[in-house]
Amino acid sequence: MRKLAAGNWKMNGSAAALAEVGALIAAHPAPACEMLLCPPATLIAQMAAAARSSALQVGGQDCHPKASGAHTGDVSAAMLKDAGASHVILGHSERRADHGETDALVQTKAEAALAAGLIAIVCLGETEAERDAGQTLDVIGRQLAGSVPQAATAQTLVIAYEPVWAIGTGRTPTLDQIAEVHAFLRARLTLRFGASAAQMRLLYGGSVKPSNAAEIFAVPHVDGALVGGASLKSADFGAIVAALSA
Ligand code: PEP
Repeated sequence: MRKLAAGNWKMNGSAAALAEVGALIAAHPAPACEMLLCPPATLIAQMAAAARSSALQVGGQDCHPKASGAHTGDVSAAMLKDAGASHVILGHSERRADHGETDALVQTKAEAALAAGLIAIVCLGETEAERDAGQTLDVIGRQLAGSVPQAATAQTLVIAYEPVWAIGTGRTPTLDQIAEVHAFLRARLTLRFGASAAQMRLLYGGSVKPSNAAEIFAVPHVDGALVGGASLKSADFGAIVAALSA
């Protein structure tokens, strides 16, 4: 399996920020891992054009479950694909919190992504209160069962484990805590999808940075990272790509 370094720019970046993309492509012409940036929807087409013929792939941060129609302000999976995206992040905790996205909605979005030929990166993660209450695996198991479509395959599905309390906070779980959740995810996916689950990529996300990337990537069943803040600077994201390629 090729590992995946995925960057989530969130609601950051303008056309001027595309210079960072040029620097990233120049510094990493042929990384051993896959390299993906998910900018705001406004930048997908421009970033995809800048990334053409390079190792960089481009993705969206959300999509609507329907392919088209009267949904003001929304973007469909087919539109993301048309703009040059290969992946889409779905069910990020910020969307679950800010937009009330449920597991069932995330699942329909993931189905739409697969139908449009996109790879779905489905995000899961417990809140700090849920971890403190000893509910982490219950929450992750429920989100996994409810958010992942039955049609998913190792080629079309990526899971990102992102503890809500680790996103943008500089705090990370212990390596043992990451290992426990990733082993649990692999076991649950194997129960549901059989042997092919061994090839499904499981990303860790939450305050990954150049200084902690190598130790996190050494944890069993960590097949890459979903990176927020550190993906905005090509040097930092490039260092994470290099750590994953080592
Ligand atoms: C994220 O938003 O997916 C994320 C992991 O953010 P950060 O790396 O900034 O914690």
